Amino acid sequence: MSNERLFSRRSFLKASGLLALASTFPIASTSAQTGEKLKDLLSKNNRSLQLKKTKVLLDDQWDVIVVGGGPSGCAAAIASAREGAKTLLIESMGCLGGMGTSGLVPAWTPFSDGERMIYRGIAEKVFNESKKGVPFEPKEKMDWVAINPEWLKLVYDRMVAENNVKVLFFSHLASVEMKNEKEVDAIIISNKSGLTAYRAKVYVDCTGDGDLAAWAGASFTKGNSKGISMPATHCFEIVNLNVNPSNIESFNSLYGGNKKSPIWEIVESKKYSLIKDAHLCINYIGPNAVGLNAGHLFEVDSTNPQSLSNAMSRGRELANQFMAGLKEFRPDIFANSVLVNTGQLMGIRESRIIEGDYRLTLKDWIARATFPDEIGRNNYFIDIHNSEEEIDKVLKEKNFENNLGRPEPYKKGESHGIPYRCLTPKRLKNVLVAGRCISTEQIVQGSVRVQSACLVTGEAAGMAAAHAIQQHKNDVHLVNVDYLRKRLKEEGQYFK
Ligand SMILES: Cc1cc2nc3c(=O)[nH]c(=O)nc-3n(C[C@H](O)[C@H](O)[C@H](O)COP(=O)(O)OP(=O)(O)OC[C@H]3O[C@@H](n4cnc5c(N)ncnc54)[C@H](O)[C@@H]3O)c2cc1C
Repeated sequence: MSNERLFSRRSFLKASGLLALASTFPIASTSAQTGEKLKDLLSKNNRSLQLKKTKVLLDDQWDVIVVGGGPSGCAAAIASAREGAKTLLIESMGCLGGMGTSGLVPAWTPFSDGERMIYRGIAEKVFNESKKGVPFEPKEKMDWVAINPEWLKLVYDRMVAENNVKVLFFSHLASVEMKNEKEVDAIIISNKSGLTAYRAKVYVDCTGDGDLAAWAGASFTKGNSKGISMPATHCFEIVNLNVNPSNIESFNSLYGGNKKSPIWEIVESKKYSLIKDAHLCINYIGPNAVGLNAGHLFEVDSTNPQSLSNAMSRGRELANQFMAGLKEFRPDIFANSVLVNTGQLMGIRESRIIEGDYRLTLKDWIARATFPDEIGRNNYFIDIHNSEEEIDKVLKEKNFENNLGRPEPYKKGESHGIPYRCLTPKRLKNVLVAGRCISTEQIVQGSVRVQSACLVTGEAAGMAAAHAIQQHKNDVHLVNVDYLRKRLKEEGQYFK
């Protein structure tokens, strides 16, 4: 590799040691948390290990590196490469798609505002290609279209390849090397080659958890006033049901929002200890096959490896309990069915929210705000899943759709803008974020976290990364937003 050089790491301990500490001593706080505060942990919280001075290979041929290959990362990498930047996409799993593939999330949230498609550009292209994997869905359907995850993996593989994005699978961001307080110099990736440094001019953090930005020192919030984030769901797939495309409609009766759904009997029977509420969404994803986004795992912290590990095994137990419960209460459909797959990724709805130049507020969401620097629109409802304390109320009322006083969903034709400033972490010069960790108030993250919006923020971030290199010595805060919006519009994006 001609561009690989030996990279001398001045301070690998700084980032990697902090990673270990940060996971051992998870910080659950709504106050902004900086790299400096993490550094304090080293001195306060007992044991640490000094890594020996070491050198790793350096690959410094990249203009833009995108970390995380979910919807936001794929869109970012495609957009960056399309603008002419030499782009590397780094993903820790063996496929692209994030929650929609490795996480087995079985459906797209609505792509329309009830009147027209509002998530366009790369989002629309991915959505249209994805639909080819679920031919039983009506061609013109825009809302709640099912996902065939194996097909979606191919869609992303092909789209990134067509746009000359280089992809590195099974490669995990391990730490971040800073040039100075504001600028990322290189990132350290861990994979079967051991540790390797990768250097780019601009980095786009699409890890969902904001790993890169947080480790580079961006401030962020995590969770509610008690530090607790929305519950997680471990999605799974069941096959060999007694159902076919002509009676897909019968699935509607299984949805937790229906008072006759078997989920109520399953919960009330108290035989299935891990099934604590009526969350049961089910999508027909192929002949006699369904994907389920069902049940909740409470107080999972995806930035704490032990918490995440415990959740994975609990999640598999939970899926098995669902299988047993559905067989017991709906044998007409499930008697001979088999649980064939649980997500390779835990279904994490929320973790770090990175602080950007602007934080999208609930007030903005309620006002259906329009911004001079908006890069897309969103209309998804504020979909906050109830905490363990809140589920009792919903169960008592047997009303799964009780939104506990949260804002009402938008009406037809309504949407709000997403400002570019939500993608630019405060104080970091050459880092952008996209996807579910962009800068919003926690309650608004419950709306912009869905895949359609993540594709939109990904496309804008990837394009802006390329523009920052061309225009302003890699400074993402100085990007010409009028030009960015012009280019996004030329590529088909929708905003005001
Ligand atoms: C249970 C559940 C149900 C949902 N239901 C829906 C739904 O019905 N419809 C919908 O549209 N959306 C739904 N969502 C929301 C949506 O799926 C996610 O919020 C969205 O996929 C987030 O996109 P992202 O690109 O930010 O991150 P992700 O999709 O999480 O992708 C992040 C990627 O980064 C990789 N990664 C993470 N850390 C690192 C690292 N350190 N190094 C290298 N790679 C890394 C991961 O492996 C992953 O592939 C749901 C989410 C959950 C959890």
